[in-house]
Amino acid sequence: MENLYLPQINFQELYTQFSMPIGEVDCGTYCAPHNPSGKPFCCDIEQAIPAAYLQEWAYLQKASKQWQLYKPQSKSDQQAITEDTPEHMVSIKCNGPQFCHRPTRALSCRQFPFFPYITADDRFIGLTYEWVFEPSCWLISHLEVVTESYRTAFIRTYDHIFDRWMDDYESYAIHSEEMRLHFQQTKRRIPILHRNGNNYLLSPGSDRLAKVPNFQNRKFGFYI
Ligand code: SF4
Ligand code: SF4
Repeated sequence: MENLYLPQINFQELYTQFSMPIGEVDCGTYCAPHNPSGKPFCCDIEQAIPAAYLQEWAYLQKASKQWQLYKPQSKSDQQAITEDTPEHMVSIKCNGPQFCHRPTRALSCRQFPFFPYITADDRFIGLTYEWVFEPSCWLISHLEVVTESYRTAFIRTYDHIFDRWMDDYESYAIHSEEMRLHFQQTKRRIPILHRNGNNYLLSPGSDRLAKVPNFQNRKFGFYI
């Protein structure tokens, strides 16, 4: 921790350029009815725990009253948090969706359910999604609603971060590798919203891309 490199990143600026909704629909109204708590899955701390970069957390504590550090509920919860949270991030908890203050949503709120996909030969080519949320997140079953402006802002945000911060790039490279392993084991291809504006299915064993017009036939969980 002492030797952790933390580059200066202006989160206020990042938030400003990455503030648009993912699509023209309010996807929370489609997923929340399937969650027993009635909250959108990504805004329910029982389902998804947000994380913030250490510099982002420093900014959020000054800019907003909607966040606190997440307190693990048990030893196993603590262990899972430690395993899932990179050293340069902290787990946080907001006041809940009824009190959501959009200008100070964390980057992890803005990017959900996506993360930057890094190929095995080390290229950030676009967006893919957090596959554990396939059954619950309506948006993952409706990737066609993602706007070009959202895709562009997402890529611009991570280009900015990765240009300054190899540790963060590496943590997403590892996460992408985990996704390749999971999709190889389940004999599936990985959807990619590419930075070139096209959509692809990627073969996890080779990173070979097959262009697809859209993802309309991919439905999961509650949305089949
Ligand atoms: S991103 Fe997914 S989980 Fe979050 S509100 Fe939209 S559909 Fe629900
Ligand atoms: S800050 Fe808003 S978008 Fe982020 S988890 Fe909380 S309610 Fe959801």
